[in-house]
Amino acid sequence: MMTGLSEKYEVVIGLEVHAQLLTNTKLFCGDPAHFGGAPNTHISPITLGYPGTLPRLNGQAVEYAVRMGIACNCEISSRNWFARKHYFYPDLPKGYQTSQHINNICQGGRVHIHAGGQERDVQLHHIHLEEDAGKSIHDADPYKTAIDHNRAGVPLIEIVSEPDLFSADEAYAYVTEIRKLVRYLGICDGNMEEGSLRCDANVSVRLRGEKKLGTKVEVKNLNSIRHVKKAIEIEAARMMALLEKGEPIIQQTRSFDADKSITFPLRDKEEANDYRYFPDPDLPPFVVTAEKLAAIRDTMPALPEAVRQRFESQYQLPAYDARMLSDDIGLVRYFEAAACHTKQHKAVSNWLMGPVRNWLNETGSEMSQFPLPAVALAELVELVEAGKISFSAASSRLLPALLKDPAAAPAALAAGLNLLQDAGAGEIERWVQEVLAKMPDKVAEYRKGKKGLIGLFMGEVKKISKGKADPQTTTRLLEQKLNEKV
Ligand code: ADP
Ligand code: MG
Repeated sequence: MMTGLSEKYEVVIGLEVHAQLLTNTKLFCGDPAHFGGAPNTHISPITLGYPGTLPRLNGQAVEYAVRMGIACNCEISSRNWFARKHYFYPDLPKGYQTSQHINNICQGGRVHIHAGGQERDVQLHHIHLEEDAGKSIHDADPYKTAIDHNRAGVPLIEIVSEPDLFSADEAYAYVTEIRKLVRYLGICDGNMEEGSLRCDANVSVRLRGEKKLGTKVEVKNLNSIRHVKKAIEIEAARMMALLEKGEPIIQQTRSFDADKSITFPLRDKEEANDYRYFPDPDLPPFVVTAEKLAAIRDTMPALPEAVRQRFESQYQLPAYDARMLSDDIGLVRYFEAAACHTKQHKAVSNWLMGPVRNWLNETGSEMSQFPLPAVALAELVELVEAGKISFSAASSRLLPALLKDPAAAPAALAAGLNLLQDAGAGEIERWVQEVLAKMPDKVAEYRKGKKGLIGLFMGEVKKISKGKADPQTTTRLLEQKLNEKV
């Protein structure tokens, strides 16, 4: 049924992504801005909006917003001001949120995505700066709602796309790209589970070929990129089913329940928002001068595309490796650190995309949590490439041992575990002779031309040597014996 309907209807999505900025202090005062802490410890009279307090703008937050604007090819506004956006909510101590209105620090722009085997630019509407609200906690007490103001006043950027995404997969790719960018820029940790990256999805559907946008529904509470995709699929299917039944779509704010795989209404949206915006009289307009903009441009870190190209040219990595590694700034930093200690660049890449990534997946960790220093991985790679230890022993035995004892020297640990292929040629020659003597039929077949049997002999030598025979010497000696005139 879905395929039929998705041929008939087109899904249109606009995303509003909030990113908590990694500044030390809040947007308008010196209270700590980082996540966590005992409830209501990152607060001062300014965060709480006590009468007589005055806000003061955090320049670092402005710089971070501009960095994102540059990365997305936005136009940066030189003259900016903050507005008060009024609404009443218990976790909003001032009774208004300080945000930008009408005039936003970054205008337009685009984000390049890869989805469904294609790539294209998604148009942005704008990016603006605002402060976060506190947090209402409903499950601490059965009768009361608790409030934690630690988050109140933490700087956010809100990245608002045009209604320019046309499938749940495109939305998935878009949020993935934004998370990649903010991490590269070092302006947000991109952690959706802890709420430092949050996304609201505006979804509508229309008949294919129709130019006019359909009525939109805003879906909130999407705390992972997978949920963004899932929620859009579910919401679009719900809307299409309504249209099929001839029922109207109501403009609403809905919430996503991942366990039940449904969206449910939170509130019907009033025609026009009534936030009574006005310029904040306590905050003077702030200017991003041409000099300031140039200085921020000069200190922009390399962006994913540039890193991808550099990984191909500087390290001669295949295109596939360069893309996989450049997708994650953690892998990029680690690779570059390892590349200072070994020229075996492709082997390092293989290790990162193989055993290391398996470990990350199994433990649900980020690259920054990988315990082994890059220099140790480089040494491990060198040991394997030099034939001192087999890849399988290195990945299945030495790596786990190193992860338990990251300060150990790989070569010493390998020796201690008796993993080194350090047998002498004389010893290997005896094993080779033993194996060939054991399998006269196979030896005869080999000599008649079945050269593939070399693998069988290699395996036998490996077995009886308990991995102590290095493959290079083993192959050389095997071929020597097998090709001897008989
Ligand atoms: P609101 O005033 O309700 O906040 P905006 O026009 O500011 O709406 O848009 C908010 C977000 O919703 C933007 O990301 C925009 O692209 C998206 N959007 C607006 N209209 C639609 C629509 N009909 N379908 C899908 N997304 C939409
Ligand atoms: Mg809006």
